[in-house]
Amino acid sequence: MQYRTLAEIYEELQATPSKLAKAEIVAKLLKKTPAELLEKVTLLASGHIFPEWSDEKLGIADKLVIKAISKATGVSTQDIIIESNKTGDLGLTAENLIGKKKQRTLGQRDTTIELVFDNLRKIAKQEGSGSQEKKIDLIAELLSGAEPLEARYIVRTALEQMRIGVAKGIIRDAIALAFEIDKKIVETAVDTTPNYGLVAKIAKEKGEIGLKKITFTLGEPFQVILAEKIPSIKEAIEKFDNVILEYKYDGMRTLIHKKDDRVWIFTRNLEDITKAFPDIVELVRKNVKAKDCILDGETIGLTEKGKAIPFQKLSTRIKRKHDVKKHSENIPIQVNLFDIIYLEGKILTELSLKERREILAKTIKVQKGKFQFTEFLIPKTLVEAEKFYNTALKLGHEGLIAKNLDAKYIPGRRVAGGWLKIKPIMENLDVVIIGGVWGTGKRVGALGSLILGLRVDGKFLACGKLGTGLKEKEQETGTTLSHITKLLRPYIISEHGNEVKIKPKIVIEVAYEEIQKSPQYESGFALRFPRFIRLRDDKNPEQADDINRVNVLYKQQKGKR
Ligand code: AMP
Repeated sequence: MQYRTLAEIYEELQATPSKLAKAEIVAKLLKKTPAELLEKVTLLASGHIFPEWSDEKLGIADKLVIKAISKATGVSTQDIIIESNKTGDLGLTAENLIGKKKQRTLGQRDTTIELVFDNLRKIAKQEGSGSQEKKIDLIAELLSGAEPLEARYIVRTALEQMRIGVAKGIIRDAIALAFEIDKKIVETAVDTTPNYGLVAKIAKEKGEIGLKKITFTLGEPFQVILAEKIPSIKEAIEKFDNVILEYKYDGMRTLIHKKDDRVWIFTRNLEDITKAFPDIVELVRKNVKAKDCILDGETIGLTEKGKAIPFQKLSTRIKRKHDVKKHSENIPIQVNLFDIIYLEGKILTELSLKERREILAKTIKVQKGKFQFTEFLIPKTLVEAEKFYNTALKLGHEGLIAKNLDAKYIPGRRVAGGWLKIKPIMENLDVVIIGGVWGTGKRVGALGSLILGLRVDGKFLACGKLGTGLKEKEQETGTTLSHITKLLRPYIISEHGNEVKIKPKIVIEVAYEEIQKSPQYESGFALRFPRFIRLRDDKNPEQADDINRVNVLYKQQKGKR
């Protein structure tokens, strides 16, 4: 199949804002794709080369692409940089330069989808000495044989900056439309196996009946159950007839797959983190009695004395490729298990949580403090439940999760009647913008993230970086990135690379998940996941919140008042 067909579809998608229309365009593509190519085309349609859960990543930097364009066109890297700075889009640059190339290579072959896909996958496999050159050659080979429009999308796919607005939901809807299958059935199928290409192939070849038979695959993650917020313990325990309360640990969701001696660890984002956590693998091998199973739990990091540490510290282990062993010794872990989803060929999702917990108890050998059940309480009274909540907070955990003991395990849903999380509600803070980072991709020309400052003795010291809550498009309601950039521009003091320092003038209100002590920020505190709420143009910087306020909130949050 010609890559041109796909490039034209991308162009159509880019020009179509409506989600429904996008799904129809992708459906048209899937319909005409032969079954054996569907896996590749479905991935490419959303701009990917690997399924989202794969631990293989493209990881191609701008620099490498610039060199490849240079090799394919003969234009110097310097000129390519100048050209691409005008649009902020190397895809367009490649398109223009390939278009200008006077003489095309003789005997060039037509670019096929397979060739693009296979070359990009080969790039991900290159390692060690000479690998950069090989990567450049592989992209240059594609660009040399490409038409201008194809070059645009080869580059954007390589850089994972598609700008076509095709997220997973659109692919799911497109599969439903293309093969005339109920959307809900496709949704359940992709929640169970988030391999959209495979789901598309089964939908084409075996239809609805085939999709209904899709089950979990050991070694491939699925969309895990998530929690909804609830304001109080009282409401949470009144919601279910049979409720169990568990500590909500500030850790890492840990999906454990075991097949004979092989173990995989996935996060809730479906990332395969097996290689970064040999200690979890070891614990599973030693303490799981089953041959094949899937377990669900939360892993926390511990101090030397066995106290829980904030997720931020544990998270430094997640992306680690080198010195894994040393870091596993520096940050020891504790696995807290709360569910079992699959055991010796049987899917357990239709059983109640109560039954699943009984099975889990028989499947694992508890190693206290290392590999154990989550702390839990089946409360008889509200007083007892509240005491449990306070203990959880005192120990530095985030709060509680309330679960319905009668509920099934439904992958991928924030189900009514599923899990409810109870956390202290953090009061919003008014902070001052003291810096920013110029955005890339869709955010080019605007400050993509903002450095937040906290008032400390008349100065404003950094306490976090905000990248969410601001709208990207003018048509959306609320403050946009470009509006806030316009406001801040006159106050830019200096620029260093893509970072700017800004005179403390503009006050904004932010929400956040938690306050943490942080040596990384000058103020000594970090707001975790700050979110823009609104401009406080009624306040001047001297009226913004100060470090004393943050100190009080920090202590309250830890239950140390
Ligand atoms: P949230 O991320 O705030 O939506 O809360 C859901 C997350 O809490 C899950 O994805 C888990 O990673 C985490 N968690 C911590 N403790 C538990 C627990 N006892 N049961 C379920 N999830 C938990």
